[in-house]
Amino acid sequence: MITIGVPAESPEETRIGLSPETAKKLVKNGAKVSIRSGAGLRSHFSDADYRDAGATIAASDAEAVKDVDVVLTVRRPALALVKAMKPGAMLIGMLDPFGDADDLAALAKTGASLFAMELMPRISRAQSMDVLSSQANLAGYKAVVDAAALFERALPMMMTAAGTVPAARVFVMGVGVAGLQAIATARRLGAIVTATDVRPAVKEQVASLGAKFIAVEDEEFRQAETAAGYAKEMSDEYKKKQAGLVAEHVKNQDIVITTALIPGRPAPKLLSKAMIESMKPGSIIVDLAAERGGNAELTQAGEIVEHNGVRIMGVLNLPGAVPVNASSLYARNLLAFIEPMIAKDLDVNWEDELVKGTLIARDGIIVNTMIAERFGAGGKAPSAAAKPKATNGAKPAAKKTGGARQPKGGKT
Ligand code: NAD
Repeated sequence: MITIGVPAESPEETRIGLSPETAKKLVKNGAKVSIRSGAGLRSHFSDADYRDAGATIAASDAEAVKDVDVVLTVRRPALALVKAMKPGAMLIGMLDPFGDADDLAALAKTGASLFAMELMPRISRAQSMDVLSSQANLAGYKAVVDAAALFERALPMMMTAAGTVPAARVFVMGVGVAGLQAIATARRLGAIVTATDVRPAVKEQVASLGAKFIAVEDEEFRQAETAAGYAKEMSDEYKKKQAGLVAEHVKNQDIVITTALIPGRPAPKLLSKAMIESMKPGSIIVDLAAERGGNAELTQAGEIVEHNGVRIMGVLNLPGAVPVNASSLYARNLLAFIEPMIAKDLDVNWEDELVKGTLIARDGIIVNTMIAERFGAGGKAPSAAAKPKATNGAKPAAKKTGGARQPKGGKT
């Protein structure tokens, strides 16, 4: 019988990788599931809910992961927990594959099979396992709701006997999964929405949501999308033109939501201090790229900074602010990934594109090409003396080999 264990997350993490719904399905599929007592409480999943779903409740994290075949987490767990796992067991979670390299090397050395869900290839078959999308979608929604809560004016236009309340202007910078949901949410709240991106494919999507697309549409823009559907780093000349356009536009905006990211790079700086200073007092900026350095010059990760009356929210882990939905969707992403493995009695096809894409380390060896490059040739997790420097979460400029964030088509 396949055994699955779920430890509690750290105090800062509100989400959990198992919901009562997915526990029930795993048990129905013949797995034995154990979860640490209280681990789902911040998503309002009680021990009783898990028990009703057929899971057993473990008194400690060590007990939850001891002797199990598969451990499910949200974040990268502490080394001690991975050491408490049975040799060669699978650890599946958002393991932050480009963060703290020393720690990752230590985890790899335990011999556990480490799967980073962030590296899931973005192909049609893997859509139900795409944790970046499921979480970014909620982040885009919550960014607008939080901005609206902080904004001391109404968003929709209201025509009243006492006069008209004007609609707020919301500008979304970066229209990936989070940006699209931010546009849709701001529109539902009645704001006048504009959006920008460097990928031409986005233009129609923006229009279909009832927002106006704004961008420097030159030749470089027309070539800006990679085969994988991600943005490229733009030239200095393009950035200058883009900054000019944004500077003019941003002056009249009430709320700016920034979500712009480029795989393998720090977040592009799109809002300079001067642009922020041109905004009206009371305006709000929500910087969803805060974790990767921020799109706005004054962003401080995890803080709300006020500058000349403009508040800049450098929010971290916004999906964690809607933990019930975030956990439910994330747990379903994990379920979709492991169900086929359970069906085959964990006789994993190591050549499968999704397994290869997400597997970082196995039998003490770093097997993911992009990460192995950071550790030097051979893919061996480095010794303490030879460990590479941690990159503070920023992705290195990796060669486009084997990495799952360079998927091969089937994208939607
Ligand atoms: P992301 O988080 O990597 O980046 C967010 C957005 O920022 C992107 O739209 C990017 O073009 C934009 N950006 C980068 N630099 C910018 C700049 N200088 N100015 C303005 N915008 C800038 O993106 P994501 O949300 O992960 O989505 C990337 C693409 O992948 C999208 O086309 C999305 O629809 C697609 N996608 C496909 C699948 C699938 O097929 N399974 C799943 C999810 C997303």
